[in-house]
Amino acid sequence: MYVILLGAPGAGKGTQVTNIAVNLNLVQMSTGDLFRQAAAEGTELGKQAQGYMKEGKLVPDEITIKMVMEKMAVVDNKSGVVFDGFPRTLKQAEALDKALVETNKKIDKVVYIKVNEEELLKRLSGRWICRKCQTPYHSVSSPPKVAGKCDKCGGELYQRTDDQAETVKNRLKVYFAETAPLIEYYRKAGKLLEINGEGDIEEISRRLIASLRGN
Ligand code: AMP
Repeated sequence: MYVILLGAPGAGKGTQVTNIAVNLNLVQMSTGDLFRQAAAEGTELGKQAQGYMKEGKLVPDEITIKMVMEKMAVVDNKSGVVFDGFPRTLKQAEALDKALVETNKKIDKVVYIKVNEEELLKRLSGRWICRKCQTPYHSVSSPPKVAGKCDKCGGELYQRTDDQAETVKNRLKVYFAETAPLIEYYRKAGKLLEINGEGDIEEISRRLIASLRGN
């Protein structure tokens, strides 16, 4: 199964993606994580991406598509992939469709996680992420058991530089201009599932898995 998680920054894609990957036996492909990892390692790709990320802009399509295709070629994706944060533009969506068709595959379902804008801003401003395993926390709605430490692996928690107020506003603007049109693109293709992304994390997780399993 090939699945896309679609939604604004802060909609909960990063919170839900690992659970979906584990439950449905899919490879997780989170482009933001891949870019941050490349930046931390100081690779050429990381250096190229960093400037855009800092400003809340999208990394250019050519760079992003190339990175995803290279990753797809090396991961064992026989049972499928769950994409998180990709595609983010029409060009990326078309490139993905084309690449899958070439190997007799297709996107099966696209889950659009819906959250209102006020809630998105609240979530992004209190977000903390594990440096080691990328699990996200929120200082108010889902704090770690021990301050500054990941519940799952004990890793150090940090705040993303692009979660600062001005950058967040820019990321949301970019989302509405560039990524939101994908909702219609996948709706027209008959692949869109809409999920209410507000409320309890576990409950949203159940909704997501159930809808992907077709229940
Ligand atoms: P995320 O962790 O998904 O919020 O992504 C963090 C940042 O990485 C974004 O603000 C972009 O700068 C960059 N990025 C991640 N995925 C993509 C993508 N599909 N296309 C372009 N830029 C991306």
